[in-house]
Amino acid sequence: MRKYENQNERQIQEIFCNCCGKKIRIEKGIVQEGVFHGQVQWGYFSKKDGESHTFDLCEECYDRLTAGFQIPPEKNMERELL
Ligand SMILES: [Zn+2]
Repeated sequence: MRKYENQNERQIQEIFCNCCGKKIRIEKGIVQEGVFHGQVQWGYFSKKDGESHTFDLCEECYDRLTAGFQIPPEKNMERELL
């Protein structure tokens, strides 16, 4: 869950893990730790047609969630970290 300083500039003020409620560390609008941001636009063939859902997970909750997957997430190393 993200709160923005100014809705037009979209500078992040606060992020909370939706799973455990932990506040993610941010300094000067820059996220200081690992965070997963999920976003989905539900379409016509879903039961939530037209709804957009977003959420954030801290790294611990991400690890706990994905550890329960039957098929683990695909992992790739980025050549350049921006
Ligand atoms: Zn969490």
